[in-house]
Amino acid sequence: MSMRTAPPMASDELMEDVRRLALIRTHRLAPWMLDGRRLTVPQADAVLAQLWHSPPREDVPVDDSRPAPSVPRERGGEEEVARAMEATRRNPRPMDFFAMISDGKYATPTGHERNDLDFWLVKTRKNGKYEGRRFVDRIIGGHDDVPLDNVHGRLAMEAILAYGAEESQVLYSQEIGTCRFCQRSLTRRVPRYNGQGNDCAADRGLTQEIPPDDWRPEIQDEA
Ligand SMILES: [Zn+2]
Repeated sequence: MSMRTAPPMASDELMEDVRRLALIRTHRLAPWMLDGRRLTVPQADAVLAQLWHSPPREDVPVDDSRPAPSVPRERGGEEEVARAMEATRRNPRPMDFFAMISDGKYATPTGHERNDLDFWLVKTRKNGKYEGRRFVDRIIGGHDDVPLDNVHGRLAMEAILAYGAEESQVLYSQEIGTCRFCQRSLTRRVPRYNGQGNDCAADRGLTQEIPPDDWRPEIQDEA
């Protein structure tokens, strides 16, 4: 099993990294679109889903009764977008919003400049004072997991949502080489590309897709 290891990281640097996630989110337009109730939340979701080439969440019906917004030209200037982004950074959505992200391990791209990933563990506290509440740890190679505070946990959830919950789970499995369902080690090329062992895929009626030749050519099955 090949384990990606990250260099040791000072806690300041770690938090700065997490903060930066807010800025790579493609939700950055959302506060601006929602400002002054130009769009309903489901409408904004649908627009963002479109931008992300992923289907909108099916549990939220899109409200077509509201007319399409006309946005005056002076709105959405750089300064206003920067203000909206800052507001989102200060106040990410509450943890309850992320119910669709199940407990598990996820990877998300760190940013556009660095070809690097962040690893997350999403979990639900099973007992004690915080029973039932959800938390996010940051997984750092060669170190103990770092528990994130509420705001940074929510930013991590936003990053997972922005990249796609399933995509982030598969990305983790591809990188670390574990099945996203049972956490068993994946050594063969096709299961690893799909982030799922053959049995777990079959149990769930999922197909194993063949990886393109240029995907991780160093991972090949032994003859
Ligand atoms: Zn499995």
